[in-house]
Amino acid sequence: MKENPNAPVAVTRSSLPPLEEYVEMLKPLWESAWLTNMGDYHEAFKEQLKSYLKISNLELFVNGHMALELALQAMELEGEVITTPFSFASTTHAIVRNGLEPVFCDINPVDYTLDVEKLEGLITERTSAIVPVHVYGNLCDVERIQQIADKHHLKVVYDAAHTFGEEWEGKGVGEFGDVSMFSFHATKVFHSIEGGAVSYRDARLSDRLYQLKNFGIMDSERVEYVGANGKMNEFQAAMGICNLRHVDEEIGKRKKLAEVYRQRLSGVKGIRLCPENPKVRSNYAYMPVVFDGYRKSRDQVFQELAQAHIHARKYFYPCINHYTCYKGRFNENSTPVAARISRQILTLPLYADLDKETVDRICDIVL
Ligand SMILES: *Cc1c(COP(=O)(O)O)cnc(C)c1O
Repeated sequence: MKENPNAPVAVTRSSLPPLEEYVEMLKPLWESAWLTNMGDYHEAFKEQLKSYLKISNLELFVNGHMALELALQAMELEGEVITTPFSFASTTHAIVRNGLEPVFCDINPVDYTLDVEKLEGLITERTSAIVPVHVYGNLCDVERIQQIADKHHLKVVYDAAHTFGEEWEGKGVGEFGDVSMFSFHATKVFHSIEGGAVSYRDARLSDRLYQLKNFGIMDSERVEYVGANGKMNEFQAAMGICNLRHVDEEIGKRKKLAEVYRQRLSGVKGIRLCPENPKVRSNYAYMPVVFDGYRKSRDQVFQELAQAHIHARKYFYPCINHYTCYKGRFNENSTPVAARISRQILTLPLYADLDKETVDRICDIVL
């Protein structure tokens, strides 16, 4: 599909299955009138995901945020939780909404994940867990984080929202830590309109996660926990099942475009791209570019692209510890690398149906 060169280019565009494929999936729902509460599609989708993501335990949720929030609740954490300020609002909000206290660890300037060298110094006797983010699909230093967590008896909960389908030496990324959260939001590499999942190591978490996403209800006469409504409905699961059939093809298309970006932008003085990790099967979710000592600032590049109706995104800016809602409570100065990167980074448009000519045009403007 050729794009009109004057049409606006968004930073992302949801992938959709052929309409007939989805409509076909809807027919049984009209027959059964079973629309939510763990129906047949919910169960089928869950099994298919376990196999695709190469993980043993999985629970589905209405969205990624509820998945994370309820996973933290299920683990009965207390006190402080160490996390990164360089993420989407959801990561810290999920901690705070559980009555826990976030402690921000800075990121490393190479792949923008948690700086493991600074992690141990932040652990106190009140720390109960670490919530790192595999940001842009860049895997955290999972081995080192696990060593530190084991030494101090801490839980590890990964925000794996960006890592759908990624593998590290053939192992599904959801197998790391105690719990990982995936997001299937419409803007992600893979989606179920809205949706999310939790993968977990300890099979005993299964019942608790299930109960918490259903109001804490145990049976018709007993409510044991203060749960929420976190259930994925059948329309979401049906979309997920359809998209799962096409996701490898979508990732393949993204890979080709990411390679064009890399060919054109790598090696340019003042422009920095994330390193590729040969041990990782990447999903090419994002194209983050850092402008550090480049002849144009990040904001200048952002403006010039906007004038050409190309919408890049300042992702992540501001850092979470600089949000208005956390004013007076946290301070961006405690994480200087994250603060600096958030002012230098831009994610460029990347989605399966973007055409190569547009990527070239974007690179022309950046350069
Ligand atoms: C998208 C996202 C989430 C939240 O997922 P939703 O499905 O939108 O609720 C959490 N963390 C990160 C890093 C994300 O990008």
